Amino acid sequence: MIQKFAAKLLRSIPLTADTYQLDFAWASEPVPYEAGHFFLLEVEDGGDKVTRAYSISSAPSEKEFFSLCLKFLPGGRASEYLKNMEIGQEVHFQGPFGHFKLTDSKKDILMVATGTGIAPFIGMVPTLLEQGFKKKISLYFGVRFEEDLFYLAQFKTWEKKNSKFKSFVTVSRPTEKWKGLSGRVTEHLEPLDIKDCEVYICGNGDMVKTVKEMMEAKGAQKPDLHFELFTAI
Ligand SMILES: Cc1cc2nc3c(=O)[nH]c(=O)nc-3n(C[C@H](O)[C@H](O)[C@H](O)COP(=O)(O)OP(=O)(O)OC[C@H]3O[C@@H](n4cnc5c(N)ncnc54)[C@H](O)[C@@H]3O)c2cc1C
Repeated sequence: MIQKFAAKLLRSIPLTADTYQLDFAWASEPVPYEAGHFFLLEVEDGGDKVTRAYSISSAPSEKEFFSLCLKFLPGGRASEYLKNMEIGQEVHFQGPFGHFKLTDSKKDILMVATGTGIAPFIGMVPTLLEQGFKKKISLYFGVRFEEDLFYLAQFKTWEKKNSKFKSFVTVSRPTEKWKGLSGRVTEHLEPLDIKDCEVYICGNGDMVKTVKEMMEAKGAQKPDLHFELFTAI
């Protein structure tokens, strides 16, 4: 059920120079949501009501708070508001919304994200691990520069907990020091056989469109393709 609710900023954790994890404590009863859902944030800006969508990056099993993973865009109306919020300050949301959710399919799972498109997967992976998911979970995460990377320690923890989970992190413009994968995320998806996979794609519009077309060309069936576009709504 969609609800309007208030939440208080509990903490703000820097992930990169411009990307933050914001944890919010429920002001009253927790609002039930599923991994992959998003909330709509409502803020006042110069007398206008500004509404923006943000994927929830915590697992629903976390009852004390919920998390968002935000890139603060300079001059962005919600970005500027959120950046300047103080701990304990209250903000209003609506939700949950969205169809980008886990199914009860027992197929392998391929997750593809760029930038803050990683947010819903930070709630989905622990949810699958808590449920004892038995098939493979492969997470492909692409950014432009090494300094744009975040949540790598979290990926390592999940890999140690469950041999079925594996992360593939790629940097499209790496420095000489970078020892990991390089190039765009799409280059690393090219060789994959995805016929028996559920595919989840999240991030900016161009990446989502390209990966979706690539997966369709590889034979992915419509019900197995899930995507979330971080465009303005
Ligand atoms: C389903 C969904 C889920 C999403 N989840 C996330 C998420 O998990 N994390 C996340 O970070 N984003 C997410 N987004 C994107 C988010 O909703 C916003 O679009 C984003 O945060 C930008 O909003 P804003 O109000 O800060 O910027 P806006 O005010 O909408 O501005 C948009 C752009 O214009 C630029 N701009 C604005 N004003 C000026 C100005 N005066 N001069 C120059 N440039 C200007 C800003 O820098 C910005 O680049 C999601 C979107 C959708 C649809």
